[in-house]
This record gives sequence, structure tokens and C-alpha cells, in this order.
Amino acid sequence: MTIAIYPGSFDPITNGHIDILKSGAEIFDKVIIAVSYNVNKKGFLPVDVRTNLIREAVKDIPNIEVDSFEGLTVEYAKKRGASVLLRGLRTSFDFEYEMQLSQTNQALYDKIKTVFLITKPEYNFISSSCVREILVNKGDIKSFVPEVVYRYLTQNY
Ligand code: ADP
Repeated sequence: MTIAIYPGSFDPITNGHIDILKSGAEIFDKVIIAVSYNVNKKGFLPVDVRTNLIREAVKDIPNIEVDSFEGLTVEYAKKRGASVLLRGLRTSFDFEYEMQLSQTNQALYDKIKTVFLITKPEYNFISSSCVREILVNKGDIKSFVPEVVYRYLTQNY
């Protein structure tokens, strides 16, 4: 059984993330989407809100689990018995950063492999930071995030 971890901030989760997650769930036996956090760094949404929104957005897909973790991704992967890290690629800028991250993770734990999936063109420009920026400036984020995230953000912010 191949378990993949899809780590990230997901602050908030976007349609681009969901696309990578669903594709991952078609490839691997189980995908654990894991919200990484640092208690000393305050995010935009609290971690439990982020995980609950993700849970609601993917509740119909049985081989996806939603969790959160603090600390090194490879230590979390070891603990969960995962052999794959799943990451999404949008642009060559993502590639530069992701290659370095992947090589660092492999240097820390050589049994872990990073698998990259390329986003669909329609999600290429979507990022959590641009969703947050549009939201605080009262723009429309409807087409960028899952319905449940849209409802939560427009009711609470
Ligand atoms: P991090 O804080 O680790 O950068 P993010 O939550 O921003 O985490 O993203 C997690 C993963 O999802 C990263 O691999 C990132 O490249 C990928 N990703 C982010 N936005 C998109 C998108 N629109 N399409 C595909 N992959 C994406």
C-alpha cells in the first residue's frame, strides 16, 4: 500500500490544491493531506478551520485523510508510514523552489520520494496568497476556491 503525504499551508485550500489532491488520490492507495503549521507563526486561518474546510471539500473521496502536523515533513511522513510526498507545480518558479525542497527532504530521509503533478492550465495562477489578497480587498474569490471555502470566507471575513 503506497501512502502519499500532500503537505502544505493550505491557508486557505484552493481549487488548484484540490485538483492535485484528487489526481493524487487516483494514483496512490491513500493520500494524507497534511496542514503544516508553526505555533510561533500566525497564519490567516486557524489550523483547525483549514483542516475542517479541507475535510468538507473532499468528504466524498474515501482514500483521502486530512491531518495537520508541526515540524519536519519527513518526520511526519516516517510516523505515518508514507513513502511519497505529493507536490503541485505551476510555474518554473515553483520548480526551482520545489526541487531544492525535494532534495533537502531526500537528504534527510532517503526513503522518501517526491512526486510532482502539474496543475491544469485553468488553475495555474491560483495561490492561497492571491485568494487572501482578493478577499481582504473585497474582490470575488468564487471561482478560485471550493464552494465550502467560499461560503466560510465570505461569511467570516
Ligand atoms: P507551501 O506553504 O508548502 O508552499 P501551499 O499551501 O502554498 O504550501 O501549497 C502546497 C502545494 O500545492 C505546493 O506544492 C504548491 O506548489 C502546490 N500548489 C499551490 N497552488 C497550486 C495550484 N494552483 N495548482 C497546483 N498546485 C498548487
